[in-house]
Amino acid sequence: MPDFTAHKHPVLAVRCPECGKAPGVWCRRPSGDRASDLHKARRIAADCLFVAHHGEDASIERVGKDWVIDPTGRVERNRLERATGVQLELFP
Ligand SMILES: [Zn+2]
Repeated sequence: MPDFTAHKHPVLAVRCPECGKAPGVWCRRPSGDRASDLHKARRIAADCLFVAHHGEDASIERVGKDWVIDPTGRVERNRLERATGVQLELFP
């Protein structure tokens, strides 16, 4: 299971489907330079795997220098998404 709390950004827990960087390694542009943002495909992959492993009500929050998984952190946001029909990205 990917460890979403092990890296400086939760999305780094998964391999990037776009540039192929391994878990823990920041995305690169085709030029080889460090990308300013992690690739959208990687953010979506991390989002899907996070929900698959931790459930749709779980969230991940920054607490000091650590990432902490809150098993019920998305309950209110899920309620709002259902009420409004607007889906928010877990890792924007
Ligand atoms: Zn990438």
